Amino acid sequence: MPELPEVENTRQYLLRSGLAGRRLGAPEITWANTVRRPPVGEFIEGVAGRRVADVARRGKYLIAPLDDGSYLVLHLGMTGSLRIHDAAQQLPPMARHIFPLDDGRELRFMDPRKFGHLWLLDDPAGATGKMGPEPLSPDFTPDALAAVLRRRKAPVKALLLEQSVVAGLGNLYADESLLLAGIHPERAGSSIAGEEIARLHTAIVTALTRATAAYAAARDAQWPDPPTALSPWTIPRAKGEPCPRCGTPVQLLKVRARSTWHCPRCQPPEG
Ligand SMILES: [Zn+2]
Repeated sequence: MPELPEVENTRQYLLRSGLAGRRLGAPEITWANTVRRPPVGEFIEGVAGRRVADVARRGKYLIAPLDDGSYLVLHLGMTGSLRIHDAAQQLPPMARHIFPLDDGRELRFMDPRKFGHLWLLDDPAGATGKMGPEPLSPDFTPDALAAVLRRRKAPVKALLLEQSVVAGLGNLYADESLLLAGIHPERAGSSIAGEEIARLHTAIVTALTRATAAYAAARDAQWPDPPTALSPWTIPRAKGEPCPRCGTPVQLLKVRARSTWHCPRCQPPEG
């Protein structure tokens, strides 16, 4: 599932492809349920003729402000990806939604499992809900992280997945962050304090910075068709594979139904 580094990779791809400044035609929506708001007819009418001012990101959401003050908001879901191609180029399989551009190209939204979403809104918060700090921004500090964990008894892994705690983390980078921090995924948020908070904060920033850098290098190397999914984490996600730090076989847990890989030696239950 695309998490912050994958969505940021998509944003950088769209910017480098020159989406900002382009005028959109009436989009072709082949799976109406993807459009959350407004009703699909209004969505198509509202997008047609609008110029894209920029491509921003909040957590796992792509946000394109349009020239009439509205926002085209896009979530890639489990398996979604975006490409800008010449309209004459053959459509990739699973191209569900097509936004014509005024330069003869098209923005194509591939979505094999149809879990992606689109909105056209006056305020992007109508799509994103309440979001915590961006982990790669100055707003994300050890103190801010401590303040939310202190009040919560839920497992730290589950808390890291809540977008109101920190924006953009998903299952993969949450596991990676907890391994780098040496914190067991089932520990209560409120039990993590002091030096552990600093370690967890650093680990989240490190995991995401490494991943965004890996995507940046891959974009340069493989332009104009950069990868949409790499595996830029160190924790193996397979039974019996060695922990990259100590060599102990990693173990699988379910934390609130999410597959959670961890090292029993580097991430002891009592901290
Ligand atoms: Zn280990």
